[in-house]
Amino acid sequence: MINPIINFNPNFSSLAKTKQAPKAEQAVTNVLTNPIQRPKLPQPTTMMALLYNNISFTGKKEDLVRSFGHVSCPCCGTKMLTNNDMDKIKKDLGREDSAQHYVNTLKPYEEFMHKPEKGTFNKFEAWEKENPKSTFKAFMEENRVSSIKACKESQLNTFAQINEVAKSVTPEIGEKFAQLTENYAKMPTETEEAMKNIRKSMIADIKDSKSKIEDEEKYKQLQKLADSLPTSKNSADAFIVKYAGQPSSKVGARLLKLSVGTIEHVKPQANGGRDRVENYLLECGECNHTRGDVSLHDWVEAHPEMKENTQKYMDEVIEKINNGELSPELDNYPNAVKGALKEQSKGSLTYDTSALKPKENQRPTKNDKSEKSEKPQKPNKPNKPHHKPHRLNIAA
Ligand SMILES: [Zn+2]
Repeated sequence: MINPIINFNPNFSSLAKTKQAPKAEQAVTNVLTNPIQRPKLPQPTTMMALLYNNISFTGKKEDLVRSFGHVSCPCCGTKMLTNNDMDKIKKDLGREDSAQHYVNTLKPYEEFMHKPEKGTFNKFEAWEKENPKSTFKAFMEENRVSSIKACKESQLNTFAQINEVAKSVTPEIGEKFAQLTENYAKMPTETEEAMKNIRKSMIADIKDSKSKIEDEEKYKQLQKLADSLPTSKNSADAFIVKYAGQPSSKVGARLLKLSVGTIEHVKPQANGGRDRVENYLLECGECNHTRGDVSLHDWVEAHPEMKENTQKYMDEVIEKINNGELSPELDNYPNAVKGALKEQSKGSLTYDTSALKPKENQRPTKNDKSEKSEKPQKPNKPNKPHHKPHRLNIAA
C-alpha cells in the first residue's frame, strides 16, 4: 500500500540536509533555501528571474505554489494531489488490469477523490470483493443500466420537490413547473449528456421565472433543487453512465485526475492579472475548470462554502510555512494573496492569517543555514540538472 502523504516530500530544508539527495534536487534546494544569495540581488524581479531561470524545470513561479502539495482546495475543500502523484498512479494502474489491483492502487488516494468519483470507487470496491479477477471496465459496463435507472429516479424525485415548492409560490408558477417537469420526465436519460441538458434547461426555466417568484427563499430553494439534478459532477451514477465502456486505465486515472492541484489566477490574466505568486491559488482541476471565466465575486456568491475552504487552505499553507516546509519565497504568501482575493471577490472573500508566526522566530538563522547548506551556486552559471523534472517533488 502506498501512502501518498509519506511519498510526497516538499520539505526543502530536509532535502538540504540529505547528502545523498540527487543533484537536481540539491540544486533546487540550494537556490530556494539559501538565504545568502537573495539579499545581495538588487531587484526582486531580477532576483526571481535569476533564481528561477537557473532551474530549467522549475522555471516558473507557479512551481513555488505547486510545492504546497497535499493541501485542501480553497474552493471545494477536497485534498489535492500533485502531478507526481498522478504520474505514479497512472504507472501503477498500468501494471495489471485486475479489479483487485485497481482497488489496491486507488484505495490510498480515496480521500483525494471528489464526491462522484469517491461514490463510484466505493461501489467498485464493494463489487470487487465478489469479482477480484474481473476489471474496472467490466464493473462500469455491468452497472450502466442500473445507474441510468437510479439517475431517472433521482430526477423524478427532484421534480416532485420542485413542483411542491413551485405550487407554494403561486398557482400559476405551480402549473408552469408541473408542465415543465412532466415534459422533462419523458425525456431519456440514457447518456450523461442528456441528463446535463435537462439540468441546464431546468436551471434556465427557474431563472426565467425569477420576476414572478417574489419570495427570495423559495427562489433559492428552486435553484438548489435544479442544481442537484444528476450529472457526473454530483452523482456517482451519472459518472458511471458517462464513463461506462471506456478503458479501465482511463477511467481509473479519471477518478483522481481532477484532484490534481492547478494554478488559478485570482485576477484573470485576461483582465490584467499578473503572473505573480500573490495572484495564484492552488486549486483542484475540477474547480479551476468549472469556474472558467466566472468572476470570483459571482463564484463566491454561488459557492459560499469557499469562504470556509479558503481559510482551511490558508491554515494548511501557514502550518507548512511555520514548520519551514516551504521555500522562504512563500513566507508572505498568505498575506500577499489576501489583497487580490479581497479585490476580486469585492470584499466577500477574506481570511485570518494570525496563525502565521513571525519569520525570525521560525526560520533558522543565516549561520545555521549556511552550515547545513552546500556552497551557493552562482546565479549566472546554472548547474543543469540531469534528472527528469517529474522526479522532483516540488516540480509537481
Ligand atoms: Zn476544488
